[in-house]
Amino acid sequence: MAKVLVIADIKQGVLKGSTAELLSKAKAIGAQTAVVAVGSNIESLSSELANAGSDTQYIADDPSLELFSAGPFAACVVDAAKQFAANQIWFGFSESGKAVAPRVAAQLNAACASEITDVTLDGDQIEVVRPAIAGKVIQRIKVNTEQLVAVVRAGAFEATEGITGTENVVKLAAPEADLKAVIKELISDASGEIDLADADIVISVGRGAKDQAGVDLVKELANDLTAGFGASRAMVDGGFMAHNKQVGQTGKIVAPSLYMAFGISGAIQHLAGMNGSKVILAVNKDPEAPIFNVADYGIVGDLFEVVPVLREEIKKIKS
Ligand code: FAD
Repeated sequence: MAKVLVIADIKQGVLKGSTAELLSKAKAIGAQTAVVAVGSNIESLSSELANAGSDTQYIADDPSLELFSAGPFAACVVDAAKQFAANQIWFGFSESGKAVAPRVAAQLNAACASEITDVTLDGDQIEVVRPAIAGKVIQRIKVNTEQLVAVVRAGAFEATEGITGTENVVKLAAPEADLKAVIKELISDASGEIDLADADIVISVGRGAKDQAGVDLVKELANDLTAGFGASRAMVDGGFMAHNKQVGQTGKIVAPSLYMAFGISGAIQHLAGMNGSKVILAVNKDPEAPIFNVADYGIVGDLFEVVPVLREEIKKIKS
């Protein structure tokens, strides 16, 4: 039987939705499931992790693990993977997951694949599916090692209602301090803005917004809808938006319930970051803009006229 170890994605003591999504997928392929949680003051998460579908919870809870550091985090995952005899080790798509996964794979001499959108099992043979060349092709990869370390794309799997596991906690010893790199302080983005990765609605702005006034106009719509606010690279390079707001191949990959693109042409590098969204709405004044090829709904028009109308209609619905 396949044994899948899922790495819990915990942010400021809160379990993120990707953990339940990965556990649901593991159950769906008939795997035995375990989860590894690393942090400080996180023991209370064990029942939540069991309810999300894990049969065993490996918990490394130590004050030294409060601030994320890839070395010690990887040591905890490797420890859990060995104890559980995991043949698949799944990370959600996060900066920490991307930093830790290759270290774990190297230490276990396992295959490592990122941006996974599907995993299938044929007997003991593991096959993974991932987009490549900015989404132009889909690769199906047969894994020749006994173990696979996978970083799963945001939104690739869905959490299933009614899945449960068993509360069976195994405490992991805190790893040795990483002498190569010591995290002294974590400076978080204090803007209070919604993290693109967590947002159920993402609104992005492109070069069609022209300048800061255009960006601010679209941002007001994002505020009305409590949406994450992102941008194409053109607006990041132009200095109108911070780099952590860039959606695309070299930015964030998002898969919200609704993605709204304003004044974005739909270059392949942008699409690579958002074409997994459940519903896509595009506003562009060029009817031939490639973004309309992936959009479920399209408005051919000037965003400076469309955004105020949308805001007005949303206000009516809300009142
Ligand atoms: P444009 O392509 O200039 O499009 C602007 C659009 O706005 C046009 O379609 C136009 O019709 C429309 N428009 C103009 N005025 C209005 C108006 N008033 N109302 C409505 N519509 C209007 N890009 C990313 O976004 N993310 C990435 O991660 C990324 N990574 C890259 C990596 C590499 C290696 C390379 C080479 C490029 C990458 N790019 C990335 C850049 C990408 O190729 C495009 O250049 C970029 O996405 C274009 O941004 P845009 O759509 O905002 O601008």
